[in-house]
Amino acid sequence: MNVNQQAHMASPYGQSHPGYQGYPQGGYGGQHMTASYSGQYAPYNGPASGYQQGGLPSVPPTSSQPPLIPAPPSFSQPPTNVTISQASPQGFYAAALPSQQSFTMSTPPSQPPVCGTAPLPSQPLFSSGPPLPAQSSFSGPPPLSHSSFPVGPPPSSQGQITPTPPPAIQPVFQGGPSPSSQSQFPGPPSQQPTVSPPSSQPQFPGPPTQQLPVPPPTSQPQFPGPLPQPPSMQGPPLSHQSLSGPPMSQASQGPLSGLPATSGMPPGPPPIAMQGPPMQPGIQGYQSQQNGESLHYLSSSKQKWTGFLVAALYVKYFHVEIIVWVSGIQVIEDDKANKSGEPFSTGVRGQVPPLVTTNFLVRDQGNASPRYIRCTAYNIPCTSDMAKQSQVPLAAVIKPLATLPPDEALSYPVDHGERGPIRCNRCKAYMCPYMQFIEGGRRFQCGFCSCVTEVPPYYFQHLDHTGKRVDCDRPELSLGSYEFLATVEYCKNNKLPQPPAYIFLIDVSYSAMKSGLVSIVCEELKTLLDYLPRETNEGESSIRVGFVTYNKVLHFYNVKSSLAQPQMMVVSDVADMFVPLLDGFLVNVGESRAVINSLLDQIPEMFADTRETETVFGPVIQAGLEALKAADCAGKLFVFHSSLPIAEAPGKLKNREDKKLIGTDKEKSLFQPQVTFYGNLAKECVAQGCCMDLFLFPNQYVDVATLGIVPSFTGGSLYKYTYFQATTDRECFLHDLRRAVQKHMGFDAVMRVRTSTGIRAMDFYGSFYMSNTTDVELAGLDCDKTITVEFRHDDKLSEETGALIQVRRLRTLSRSPFSHSPCFVTPVSATQCLADLYRNCETDTLINFFAKHAYHSVLSNPTKNVRDGLTNQCAQILACYRKNCASPSSAGQLILPECMKLLPVYLNCVLKSDVLHPGADVSLDERAYLRQLVSCMDVAESHVFFYPRLLPLQKLDLESEALPVAVRDSEERLSKGGVYLLENGLQLFLWVGANTQQELLQNIFGISSFGQIDPNMVMLNNPYSKKLRDMIKSIRDQRSRYMKLLVVKQEDKLELIFRHFLVEDKNNSGGASYVDFLCHMHKEIRQLLS
Ligand SMILES: [Zn+2]
Repeated sequence: MNVNQQAHMASPYGQSHPGYQGYPQGGYGGQHMTASYSGQYAPYNGPASGYQQGGLPSVPPTSSQPPLIPAPPSFSQPPTNVTISQASPQGFYAAALPSQQSFTMSTPPSQPPVCGTAPLPSQPLFSSGPPLPAQSSFSGPPPLSHSSFPVGPPPSSQGQITPTPPPAIQPVFQGGPSPSSQSQFPGPPSQQPTVSPPSSQPQFPGPPTQQLPVPPPTSQPQFPGPLPQPPSMQGPPLSHQSLSGPPMSQASQGPLSGLPATSGMPPGPPPIAMQGPPMQPGIQGYQSQQNGESLHYLSSSKQKWTGFLVAALYVKYFHVEIIVWVSGIQVIEDDKANKSGEPFSTGVRGQVPPLVTTNFLVRDQGNASPRYIRCTAYNIPCTSDMAKQSQVPLAAVIKPLATLPPDEALSYPVDHGERGPIRCNRCKAYMCPYMQFIEGGRRFQCGFCSCVTEVPPYYFQHLDHTGKRVDCDRPELSLGSYEFLATVEYCKNNKLPQPPAYIFLIDVSYSAMKSGLVSIVCEELKTLLDYLPRETNEGESSIRVGFVTYNKVLHFYNVKSSLAQPQMMVVSDVADMFVPLLDGFLVNVGESRAVINSLLDQIPEMFADTRETETVFGPVIQAGLEALKAADCAGKLFVFHSSLPIAEAPGKLKNREDKKLIGTDKEKSLFQPQVTFYGNLAKECVAQGCCMDLFLFPNQYVDVATLGIVPSFTGGSLYKYTYFQATTDRECFLHDLRRAVQKHMGFDAVMRVRTSTGIRAMDFYGSFYMSNTTDVELAGLDCDKTITVEFRHDDKLSEETGALIQVRRLRTLSRSPFSHSPCFVTPVSATQCLADLYRNCETDTLINFFAKHAYHSVLSNPTKNVRDGLTNQCAQILACYRKNCASPSSAGQLILPECMKLLPVYLNCVLKSDVLHPGADVSLDERAYLRQLVSCMDVAESHVFFYPRLLPLQKLDLESEALPVAVRDSEERLSKGGVYLLENGLQLFLWVGANTQQELLQNIFGISSFGQIDPNMVMLNNPYSKKLRDMIKSIRDQRSRYMKLLVVKQEDKLELIFRHFLVEDKNNSGGASYVDFLCHMHKEIRQLLS
């Protein structure tokens, strides 16, 4: 693989913030806080240094001025509890309102008008569109975790402050709809003892007039204090909300503020005392943003995000910070509403396609469908300097054999006869709509390299008055993707390939037998072999099959049709593997059916009493490979394996699982194969067109990082069923097996990504092998695999022509129909203007690329460096936007490009994923497994993998075909009385709240109380149950792997697993909550800008 390591990955910025280390268990409440966590985002309040000096505001505000807002209740709260009410169902506004108030408090009386104005616009918005019922329950800033965060200074090094109650402590499942439940969280008073008694202090310290260096942002919600702390307030947002005055002042120190750390910290007078930070002159809140990009952003939020956009504002270092907190769900729903109606026409260069979550139809008008190729950016910088400045990666996620919906099916293949497709003489680009015919049609100019090529006489056609060929509706001249018929010269060794073979290699050691696996595989194959892929006009498949079983030795089977019974041949010399029989090993299923069935009946019996626990693995792959070589064909190995191969043989492994290495510089070694044997074997497999699917059934460590090498290099798939049990996992495994056997594949192909002058494909990610820098060698390629390519500039691009990307295989895939060999082309625009770049990015694709890049980087870098590098790169992307594209505004405002407003939330999910930031309960094998899966995911899969879909079921519309609208992945969105479905493409959970109504339980499970829930859900025969089944089926049908349904009762053990997928919340392994991370990013960006 030709992937180079990015220097920036090693960015040490993590270490550059010494302050972070100051308070591990700090303000977050310390629940489950690990040391590592503290290093991460804990410090969002700002540099620790500031805190250390400051004491808490134990003294009441000096200011004599009365708080503007007469809301007594709020005063009772300790200053540290800053609060924003979550109670109000209005979400965004609820949040905003309190903030407004708080704002007002701090605002000089003279400014009231401003404040008053802000809320107004927002109100209408809010009321206008309550998106979802479920959503409605959503109240203010979601993250419970915030509430725990003391507004005041984070715990200083002196330990003065005790952490406020951890979020977890808070009522986790508050009835979604009823905000009131949130009020439970009274604020951290009890725990904050060390800190000066809050209650005694006037919360609104202050003299409003003085504080206000910062003009009140009217429209934007601003919360003083570090973060929005949702829980503490409830109820009527406006008047009651209190914002703690004192805390603000405390927070105000730190490097960022530019003030000396010592300055504001004295526990004394509240914020008021502070001299306004000069920095903020620009802050004008809403008004200042009326121009330019930020206005757009805000205005769009007003129109569409009602109820979803939660804004948090906090005062830090005397500045008002604005965090706009965007709901991914709303963005997805908006895209569906706006783009699913009309077909997406590909004719426009540089056009960003609808989101992968939107159901849309594609009309090919000359550029490739986004189902084949998605780019991170559709309007790329003209120069490499600009690209470097923005740090936006230029990459494409390519899915060459993507399955198209029936109404988008490709037209007939292009047949140029034996001479093959027309190509540019110089760069060898294939004929496509970007070739310009000239000289009356006798020549064409290449869109990639500008070279002029003669049109062969058999392809000549006259041009019409507009310069187009009169037959310009031919597929290769009018479509962005089309297929060529294979010709001999595009085949390996210039000859048409043999039909491929499928070889099944089954572990029959003790553990495989005991789990029931062997019986299941054998039983299934008896019918599954009837469904091997076949040519459209073929009566039966031409694929031949073969069978091997193994433990420490290998057993080959002769299943020749002329035999009455299968014959076994044992090879015990595994050091030098060979295939003991040539004739009768690979057979046609139809001809040998009786013998095959007999064999499949006998295998489970033959090994039923085995005591052999050791297995080999390397020789198993060698056996399959040798068999394909002997038959001179490509093919696929299906290996069913259960344990670490410790038997004496090539490729023998030892148990090297060592959790102590996690988080150290040596952690990377755990992702690397422990021996070179499999890498070398993989290369041999690729040369033969031998692809391998590996099904693992481990009960303990099996070293997935090493065993997965061959599938990864050969375009195969890896499946893992840990603690496999026949009763519960059979269905899942069989679905995966059926799909793996039946799906159409191409074998032994080479793909090349060609670009026009100016950019070049540099790095590739996915399941394949590269022996040089340009050819992607694919022993196998199926409809689920993607190849991700990163491009770099090697010259200047012109805005006029942009850049072209063409993907085409060089060598043919075996035989049609496996040989779908689309050639596709897609153009991207080029621009001199950074704003154009930021306007035409695709965040889901960016995240797909970032994840693959980061997951690859862990092979050679400590995970912490990888995380830091990724965070840093994203901060640079956003800082560059802020600096060059956004209208001037206060540094305290976080302004994100419209296209990237979800970048922080998704990026955080990548950073806290099990591969990059594992919890103690995540095994090394699981991490290696996920790493490999993600490397070939398409954009839709990576999207749901990192940000799972959470569907509320309590109000199902039984008449509608549509799935309910998802809610955000936060504990706070779960209602105790509700039932939810959560899926991430690999797992599927049905979460049942403890207060679920009896009627709902009856409908789903046929029981009357929560306590009776059986994890093995029975499907009942009632309309609700049927609807639920249909939903689950439709969700499963969208994914390439079967998802086993797990029923999770609220507060049950399993809930711990389930909560791991509530990715907007802080997790047990130290992953930051969305808001914490947003604040962290904000700080990073500010540092970059200053
Ligand atoms: Zn050319």
